[in-house]
Amino acid sequence: MTAVTTRHDAIDLALIETLFDRLAAPDAERIGITRDAYGPGEQRAHALFVETAESLDLIIERDAAGNHFAVYPGADRERPAWVIGSHLDSVPQGGNFDGAAGVIAGLSVIATLRRQNLVAPRDIIVAVFRAEESTWFPTSYLGSRAALGRLAPEVLSLTRADTGRTLAEHMRDCGGDPEAVATGANWLGQRALQGMLELHIEQGPTLDNEALAVGIVTGIAGSFRYREARCFGEWGHSGAVAKPYRHDALMAFAELAMALEHTWEKLEQRGERATVTVGQIATPPAQHAFSKIPGEVGFCLDVRSGSPAVLAELEATLHEIVERIGTERGVRFDLGPRSASLPAPMSETLTQRCQQLAVEHRISHCLLPSGAGHDAATFAQAGVPTQMLFVRNQHGSHNPQEAMRLADFVEGVRLLTTLVQA
Ligand SMILES: [Zn+2]
Repeated sequence: MTAVTTRHDAIDLALIETLFDRLAAPDAERIGITRDAYGPGEQRAHALFVETAESLDLIIERDAAGNHFAVYPGADRERPAWVIGSHLDSVPQGGNFDGAAGVIAGLSVIATLRRQNLVAPRDIIVAVFRAEESTWFPTSYLGSRAALGRLAPEVLSLTRADTGRTLAEHMRDCGGDPEAVATGANWLGQRALQGMLELHIEQGPTLDNEALAVGIVTGIAGSFRYREARCFGEWGHSGAVAKPYRHDALMAFAELAMALEHTWEKLEQRGERATVTVGQIATPPAQHAFSKIPGEVGFCLDVRSGSPAVLAELEATLHEIVERIGTERGVRFDLGPRSASLPAPMSETLTQRCQQLAVEHRISHCLLPSGAGHDAATFAQAGVPTQMLFVRNQHGSHNPQEAMRLADFVEGVRLLTTLVQA
Protein backbone atom coordinates (compact mmCIF):
# COMPACT_ATOMS: atom_id res chain seq x y z
CA MET A 1 0.00 0.00 0.00
CA THR A 2 1.28 3.46 -0.85
CA ALA A 3 1.13 5.81 2.10
CA VAL A 4 -1.59 8.40 1.71
CA THR A 5 -0.36 11.87 2.54
CA THR A 6 -2.34 12.87 5.59
CA ARG A 7 -4.39 16.00 5.01
CA HIS A 8 -5.39 18.38 7.80
CA ASP A 9 -9.09 17.78 7.17
CA ALA A 10 -8.73 14.03 7.74
CA ILE A 11 -7.90 14.64 11.39
CA ASP A 12 -10.68 14.56 13.99
CA LEU A 13 -10.02 17.82 15.84
CA ALA A 14 -13.13 17.48 17.97
CA LEU A 15 -11.94 14.11 19.32
CA ILE A 16 -8.53 15.57 20.19
CA GLU A 17 -9.99 18.58 21.99
CA THR A 18 -12.53 16.46 23.85
CA LEU A 19 -9.86 14.06 25.06
CA PHE A 20 -7.54 16.80 26.35
CA ASP A 21 -10.49 18.55 28.04
CA ARG A 22 -11.77 15.38 29.67
CA LEU A 23 -8.29 14.46 30.90
CA ALA A 24 -7.95 17.86 32.57
CA ALA A 25 -11.49 17.99 33.98
CA PRO A 26 -10.90 16.18 37.33
CA ASP A 27 -8.29 18.83 38.24
CA ALA A 28 -10.43 21.83 37.25
CA GLU A 29 -10.76 23.07 40.84
CA ARG A 30 -7.10 22.50 41.74
CA ILE A 31 -3.76 24.06 40.81
CA GLY A 32 -2.26 22.30 37.80
CA ILE A 33 -2.76 18.66 36.90
CA THR A 34 -1.99 15.80 39.29
CA ARG A 35 -2.31 12.31 37.85
CA ASP A 36 -0.58 10.20 40.47
CA ALA A 37 1.22 7.09 39.22
CA TYR A 38 -0.60 3.89 40.26
CA GLY A 39 -3.19 6.05 42.01
CA PRO A 40 -6.63 7.54 41.36
CA GLY A 41 -5.35 10.25 38.97
CA GLU A 42 -3.64 7.82 36.61
CA GLN A 43 -6.52 5.33 36.95
CA ARG A 44 -9.08 7.89 35.74
CA ALA A 45 -6.89 8.70 32.73
CA HIS A 46 -6.49 5.00 31.85
CA ALA A 47 -10.28 4.56 32.10
CA LEU A 48 -10.75 7.38 29.57
CA PHE A 49 -8.20 5.70 27.28
CA VAL A 50 -10.07 2.38 27.44
CA GLU A 51 -13.42 4.08 26.82
CA THR A 52 -12.00 5.89 23.76
CA ALA A 53 -10.34 2.74 22.41
CA GLU A 54 -13.69 0.92 22.73
CA SER A 55 -15.45 3.71 20.82
CA LEU A 56 -12.84 3.32 18.04
CA ASP A 57 -13.55 -0.43 18.03
CA LEU A 58 -9.97 -1.40 18.94
CA ILE A 59 -8.80 -4.60 20.63
CA ILE A 60 -7.93 -3.75 24.24
CA GLU A 61 -5.20 -5.53 26.20
CA ARG A 62 -3.89 -4.99 29.71
CA ASP A 63 -0.67 -6.47 31.05
CA ALA A 64 0.31 -7.55 34.56
CA ALA A 65 1.75 -4.11 35.35
CA GLY A 66 -1.54 -2.42 34.42
CA ASN A 67 -0.28 -0.89 31.16
CA HIS A 68 -3.04 -0.62 28.54
CA PHE A 69 -2.80 -1.34 24.82
CA ALA A 70 -5.31 -0.70 22.05
CA VAL A 71 -4.68 -2.61 18.84
CA TYR A 72 -5.83 -1.50 15.38
CA PRO A 73 -5.48 -4.70 13.33
CA GLY A 74 -3.48 -4.36 10.13
CA ALA A 75 -3.92 -6.10 6.77
CA ASP A 76 -1.31 -8.69 7.75
CA ARG A 77 -1.42 -9.34 11.47
CA GLU A 78 1.72 -11.46 11.37
CA ARG A 79 3.94 -8.55 10.40
CA PRO A 80 5.86 -6.72 13.14
CA ALA A 81 3.62 -4.04 14.65
CA TRP A 82 4.07 -0.33 15.22
CA VAL A 83 3.75 0.93 18.78
CA ILE A 84 2.69 4.52 19.39
CA GLY A 85 2.69 5.37 23.07
CA SER A 86 3.56 7.42 26.10
CA HIS A 87 2.33 7.86 29.68
CA LEU A 88 -0.67 9.37 31.46
CA ASP A 89 0.81 10.03 34.90
CA SER A 90 1.98 13.56 35.68
CA VAL A 91 4.14 15.17 38.34
CA PRO A 92 2.21 16.79 41.23
CA GLN A 93 0.76 20.10 39.99
CA GLY A 94 2.08 19.50 36.49
CA GLY A 95 0.46 20.20 33.13
CA ASN A 96 -2.05 18.42 30.91
CA PHE A 97 0.20 17.61 27.95
CA ASP A 98 3.38 15.91 29.21
CA GLY A 99 2.78 12.25 28.34
CA ALA A 100 -0.90 12.62 27.44
CA ALA A 101 -0.01 14.20 24.08
CA GLY A 102 1.70 10.98 22.98
CA VAL A 103 -1.25 8.79 23.96
CA ILE A 104 -3.83 11.07 22.34
CA ALA A 105 -1.60 11.25 19.25
CA GLY A 106 -1.77 7.45 18.96
CA LEU A 107 -5.56 7.44 19.24
CA SER A 108 -5.76 10.34 16.74
CA VAL A 109 -3.66 8.42 14.20
CA ILE A 110 -6.11 5.52 14.33
CA ALA A 111 -9.17 7.80 14.23
CA THR A 112 -7.65 9.45 11.14
CA LEU A 113 -7.12 6.11 9.39
CA ARG A 114 -10.64 4.95 10.32
CA ARG A 115 -12.20 8.14 8.94
CA GLN A 116 -10.59 7.46 5.57
CA ASN A 117 -11.34 3.73 5.68
CA LEU A 118 -7.63 2.96 5.59
CA VAL A 119 -6.25 -0.27 6.98
CA ALA A 120 -2.52 -0.15 7.73
CA PRO A 121 -0.31 -2.97 6.41
CA ARG A 122 0.53 -4.06 9.96
CA ASP A 123 -1.01 -3.75 13.45
CA ILE A 124 -0.79 -0.40 15.17
CA ILE A 125 -0.68 -0.65 18.96
CA VAL A 126 -1.43 2.46 21.00
CA ALA A 127 0.27 1.97 24.35
CA VAL A 128 -0.21 3.72 27.70
CA PHE A 129 2.64 3.10 30.09
CA ARG A 130 2.29 3.44 33.85
CA ALA A 131 4.41 5.58 36.14
CA GLU A 132 6.85 7.24 33.77
CA GLU A 133 7.55 10.17 36.09
CA SER A 134 10.11 9.49 38.82
CA THR A 135 8.51 11.85 41.36
CA TRP A 136 6.14 9.20 42.73
CA PHE A 137 8.45 6.19 42.86
CA PRO A 138 12.20 6.93 42.85
CA THR A 139 12.86 5.46 39.40
CA SER A 140 11.70 6.23 35.86
CA TYR A 141 9.88 4.33 33.10
CA LEU A 142 8.35 1.72 35.44
CA GLY A 143 5.49 0.87 33.09
CA SER A 144 7.46 0.71 29.86
CA ARG A 145 10.16 -1.43 31.48
CA ALA A 146 7.51 -3.84 32.77
CA ALA A 147 5.85 -3.79 29.33
CA LEU A 148 8.99 -5.34 27.85
CA GLY A 149 9.60 -7.68 30.80
CA ARG A 150 12.62 -5.62 31.86
CA LEU A 151 11.63 -4.49 35.35
CA ALA A 152 13.95 -5.82 38.07
CA PRO A 153 11.83 -7.56 40.79
CA GLU A 154 13.40 -5.51 43.62
CA VAL A 155 11.88 -2.36 42.12
CA LEU A 156 8.47 -3.66 43.25
CA SER A 157 9.38 -2.93 46.86
CA LEU A 158 10.23 0.74 46.24
CA THR A 159 7.83 3.01 48.10
CA ARG A 160 5.80 5.91 46.75
CA ALA A 161 7.06 9.27 48.03
CA ASP A 162 3.71 10.49 49.39
CA THR A 163 1.99 7.29 50.59
CA GLY A 164 4.98 5.25 51.80
CA ARG A 165 3.34 2.16 50.28
CA THR A 166 5.18 -0.17 47.92
CA LEU A 167 4.92 -0.27 44.15
CA ALA A 168 3.59 -3.85 44.46
CA GLU A 169 0.75 -2.66 46.72
CA HIS A 170 -0.12 0.25 44.45
CA MET A 171 0.03 -2.01 41.39
CA ARG A 172 -2.36 -4.50 43.00
CA ASP A 173 -4.79 -1.67 43.89
CA CYS A 174 -4.87 -0.77 40.20
CA GLY A 175 -5.71 -4.31 39.12
CA GLY A 176 -2.13 -5.34 38.38
CA ASP A 177 -0.32 -8.55 39.32
CA PRO A 178 3.09 -7.70 40.84
CA GLU A 179 4.03 -11.38 41.32
CA ALA A 180 3.63 -11.92 37.57
CA VAL A 181 5.60 -8.73 36.84
CA ALA A 182 8.40 -10.06 39.05
CA THR A 183 8.67 -13.14 36.82
CA GLY A 184 8.98 -10.92 33.74
CA ALA A 185 5.43 -11.63 32.49
CA ASN A 186 4.47 -9.13 29.81
CA TRP A 187 2.24 -8.74 26.80
CA LEU A 188 3.94 -6.26 24.48
CA GLY A 189 7.42 -7.81 24.64
CA GLN A 190 5.99 -11.01 23.10
CA ARG A 191 5.17 -9.22 19.87
CA ALA A 192 7.59 -8.54 17.03
CA LEU A 193 7.83 -4.77 16.72
CA GLN A 194 8.46 -2.69 13.62
CA GLY A 195 9.23 0.34 15.73
CA MET A 196 8.21 2.48 18.68
CA LEU A 197 7.02 6.05 18.14
CA GLU A 198 6.51 8.56 20.92
CA LEU A 199 5.18 12.05 20.39
CA HIS A 200 5.84 14.38 23.32
CA ILE A 201 5.77 18.09 24.06
CA GLU A 202 9.27 19.51 23.83
CA GLN A 203 9.47 20.74 27.48
CA GLY A 204 12.18 23.25 26.53
CA PRO A 205 12.09 26.56 24.62
CA THR A 206 13.97 25.65 21.39
CA LEU A 207 11.04 25.01 19.01
CA ASP A 208 9.05 27.98 20.32
CA ASN A 209 12.05 30.31 19.94
CA GLU A 210 12.87 28.98 16.47
CA ALA A 211 9.19 29.16 15.39
CA LEU A 212 9.09 25.47 14.42
CA ALA A 213 6.14 23.12 14.98
CA VAL A 214 7.94 19.80 15.27
CA GLY A 215 11.29 18.51 16.53
CA ILE A 216 12.64 15.21 15.23
CA VAL A 217 14.60 13.75 18.12
CA THR A 218 18.11 12.41 17.50
CA GLY A 219 18.59 10.73 20.88
CA ILE A 220 17.60 10.72 24.54
CA ALA A 221 20.19 11.74 27.10
CA GLY A 222 21.44 9.30 29.71
CA SER A 223 22.11 10.41 33.25
CA PHE A 224 23.66 9.82 36.63
CA ARG A 225 21.92 11.08 39.74
CA TYR A 226 22.49 11.42 43.44
CA ARG A 227 19.16 12.17 45.09
CA GLU A 228 20.27 12.20 48.74
CA ALA A 229 23.79 13.65 48.77
CA ARG A 230 25.13 15.35 51.89
CA CYS A 231 28.13 17.31 52.99
CA PHE A 232 29.24 17.15 56.63
CA GLY A 233 31.32 19.90 58.21
CA GLU A 234 31.33 21.25 61.73
CA TRP A 235 28.66 23.33 63.46
CA GLY A 236 30.04 26.42 65.16
CA HIS A 237 29.44 29.99 66.27
CA SER A 238 29.27 32.23 63.21
CA GLY A 239 31.27 35.00 64.86
CA ALA A 240 33.62 33.08 67.11
CA VAL A 241 35.34 30.71 64.68
CA ALA A 242 38.07 32.31 62.56
CA LYS A 243 38.38 31.37 58.91
CA PRO A 244 41.24 28.82 59.16
CA TYR A 245 39.28 26.81 61.76
CA ARG A 246 35.90 26.70 60.00
CA HIS A 247 34.50 23.58 58.31
CA ASP A 248 31.44 25.14 56.70
CA ALA A 249 29.43 22.45 54.91
CA LEU A 250 27.42 24.96 52.88
CA MET A 251 30.48 26.83 51.58
CA ALA A 252 32.02 23.48 50.64
CA PHE A 253 28.85 22.53 48.79
CA ALA A 254 28.84 25.93 47.02
CA GLU A 255 32.40 25.34 45.85
CA LEU A 256 31.39 21.91 44.54
CA ALA A 257 28.44 23.41 42.63
CA MET A 258 30.60 26.10 41.01
CA ALA A 259 33.40 23.63 40.17
CA LEU A 260 30.87 21.38 38.43
CA GLU A 261 29.52 24.31 36.46
CA HIS A 262 33.06 25.24 35.41
CA THR A 263 33.67 21.66 34.22
CA TRP A 264 30.40 21.78 32.29
CA GLU A 265 31.37 25.10 30.64
CA LYS A 266 34.67 23.63 29.48
CA LEU A 267 32.82 20.67 27.95
CA GLU A 268 30.44 23.01 26.10
CA GLN A 269 33.42 24.97 24.75
CA ARG A 270 34.69 21.69 23.29
CA GLY A 271 31.33 21.26 21.55
CA GLU A 272 30.00 18.59 23.94
CA ARG A 273 26.45 18.70 25.32
CA ALA A 274 25.39 18.01 28.90
CA THR A 275 23.28 19.45 31.70
CA VAL A 276 24.34 19.74 35.34
CA THR A 277 21.71 20.58 37.97
CA VAL A 278 21.93 20.75 41.73
CA GLY A 279 18.88 21.32 43.91
CA GLN A 280 16.98 20.57 47.13
CA ILE A 281 19.77 22.33 49.02
CA ALA A 282 18.96 22.40 52.71
CA THR A 283 20.56 22.59 56.11
CA PRO A 284 18.75 20.41 58.70
CA PRO A 285 15.92 22.49 60.25
CA ALA A 286 16.29 20.84 63.67
CA GLN A 287 19.89 22.00 63.92
CA HIS A 288 20.29 25.07 61.76
CA ALA A 289 19.85 28.55 63.14
CA PHE A 290 20.89 32.13 62.60
CA SER A 291 24.48 32.70 63.75
CA LYS A 292 25.45 29.04 63.33
CA ILE A 293 28.04 27.83 60.82
CA PRO A 294 26.26 25.11 58.81
CA GLY A 295 27.61 21.73 59.88
CA GLU A 296 25.58 19.77 57.38
CA VAL A 297 23.90 20.39 54.03
CA GLY A 298 21.79 18.07 51.91
CA PHE A 299 21.50 18.38 48.12
CA CYS A 300 20.70 16.44 45.00
CA LEU A 301 22.63 16.26 41.74
CA ASP A 302 21.33 15.42 38.27
CA VAL A 303 23.76 15.16 35.33
CA ARG A 304 22.66 14.28 31.80
CA SER A 305 24.21 13.87 28.37
CA GLY A 306 23.61 11.99 25.13
CA SER A 307 27.25 10.84 25.22
CA PRO A 308 28.38 8.00 27.51
CA ALA A 309 31.95 9.38 27.36
CA VAL A 310 30.83 12.81 28.58
CA LEU A 311 28.86 11.23 31.43
CA ALA A 312 31.89 9.18 32.47
CA GLU A 313 34.15 12.23 32.33
CA LEU A 314 31.74 14.34 34.42
CA GLU A 315 31.38 11.63 37.03
CA ALA A 316 35.13 11.10 37.32
CA THR A 317 35.57 14.86 37.72
CA LEU A 318 32.82 14.94 40.37
CA HIS A 319 34.75 12.46 42.48
CA GLU A 320 38.02 14.38 42.05
CA ILE A 321 36.34 17.64 43.11
CA VAL A 322 34.67 16.01 46.12
CA GLU A 323 38.00 14.54 47.20
CA ARG A 324 39.87 17.84 46.81
CA ILE A 325 37.28 20.02 48.60
CA GLY A 326 36.98 17.45 51.38
CA THR A 327 40.72 17.66 52.04
CA GLU A 328 41.06 21.41 51.63
CA ARG A 329 38.08 22.34 53.80
CA GLY A 330 38.08 19.50 56.31
CA VAL A 331 34.60 18.36 55.32
CA ARG A 332 33.19 15.03 54.17
CA PHE A 333 30.85 14.41 51.26
CA ASP A 334 28.53 11.42 51.23
CA LEU A 335 26.92 11.27 47.80
CA GLY A 336 24.43 8.59 48.90
CA PRO A 337 22.60 6.20 46.56
CA ARG A 338 23.41 6.58 42.86
CA SER A 339 21.03 5.95 39.99
CA ALA A 340 21.84 6.14 36.31
CA SER A 341 20.43 5.61 32.85
CA LEU A 342 22.16 5.00 29.53
CA PRO A 343 21.79 7.39 26.58
CA ALA A 344 19.29 6.09 24.02
CA PRO A 345 19.97 6.93 20.37
CA MET A 346 17.00 7.05 17.97
CA SER A 347 16.83 4.90 14.82
CA GLU A 348 18.72 6.73 12.05
CA THR A 349 16.40 5.20 9.46
CA LEU A 350 13.30 6.48 11.24
CA THR A 351 14.87 9.88 11.88
CA GLN A 352 15.62 10.26 8.16
CA ARG A 353 12.15 9.05 7.21
CA CYS A 354 10.56 11.62 9.53
CA GLN A 355 12.68 14.40 8.03
CA GLN A 356 11.63 13.35 4.54
CA LEU A 357 7.93 13.24 5.54
CA ALA A 358 8.15 16.61 7.29
CA VAL A 359 9.51 18.16 4.08
CA GLU A 360 6.79 16.47 1.96
CA HIS A 361 4.05 17.64 4.35
CA ARG A 362 5.58 21.13 4.63
CA ILE A 363 5.85 20.78 8.39
CA SER A 364 8.30 23.26 9.93
CA HIS A 365 10.83 21.18 11.84
CA CYS A 366 14.40 20.66 13.03
CA LEU A 367 16.51 17.88 14.52
CA LEU A 368 17.20 18.10 18.23
CA PRO A 369 18.30 15.93 21.16
CA SER A 370 16.12 15.18 24.19
CA GLY A 371 17.63 16.17 27.52
CA ALA A 372 14.68 14.67 29.38
CA GLY A 373 14.05 10.93 29.70
CA HIS A 374 11.06 9.23 28.09
CA ASP A 375 9.47 5.78 27.76
CA ALA A 376 10.97 5.66 24.25
CA ALA A 377 14.40 5.19 25.88
CA THR A 378 13.30 1.79 27.24
CA PHE A 379 12.50 0.62 23.71
CA ALA A 380 15.68 2.03 22.16
CA GLN A 381 17.73 0.26 24.84
CA ALA A 382 15.85 -2.98 24.16
CA GLY A 383 16.94 -2.76 20.51
CA VAL A 384 13.55 -1.71 19.08
CA PRO A 385 13.89 0.92 16.30
CA THR A 386 12.60 3.98 18.11
CA GLN A 387 11.72 7.53 17.15
CA MET A 388 10.47 10.47 19.19
CA LEU A 389 8.79 13.57 17.85
CA PHE A 390 8.60 16.76 19.85
CA VAL A 391 5.76 19.20 19.46
CA ARG A 392 6.39 22.89 20.17
CA ASN A 393 5.09 23.89 23.57
CA GLN A 394 5.01 26.98 25.76
CA HIS A 395 6.05 27.54 29.40
CA GLY A 396 8.09 24.33 29.68
CA SER A 397 6.57 21.38 31.49
CA HIS A 398 6.08 19.90 34.96
CA ASN A 399 4.18 23.07 35.87
CA PRO A 400 0.54 24.26 35.65
CA GLN A 401 1.32 26.76 32.85
CA GLU A 402 2.41 24.00 30.43
CA ALA A 403 0.76 24.70 27.03
CA MET A 404 0.58 23.32 23.49
CA ARG A 405 -1.21 24.59 20.38
CA LEU A 406 -3.63 22.24 18.65
CA ALA A 407 -2.27 23.21 15.21
CA ASP A 408 1.24 22.07 16.20
CA PHE A 409 -0.06 18.82 17.66
CA VAL A 410 -1.92 18.15 14.39
CA GLU A 411 1.36 18.48 12.45
CA GLY A 412 2.83 15.72 14.62
CA VAL A 413 -0.24 13.52 14.10
CA ARG A 414 -0.07 14.01 10.32
CA LEU A 415 3.54 12.91 10.30
CA LEU A 416 2.86 9.82 12.44
CA THR A 417 -0.23 8.86 10.42
CA THR A 418 1.78 8.80 7.21
CA LEU A 419 4.72 7.00 8.84
CA VAL A 420 2.64 4.04 10.09
CA GLN A 421 1.13 3.40 6.68
CA ALA A 422 4.26 1.51 5.71
ZN1 LIG B 1 6.61 12.78 29.77
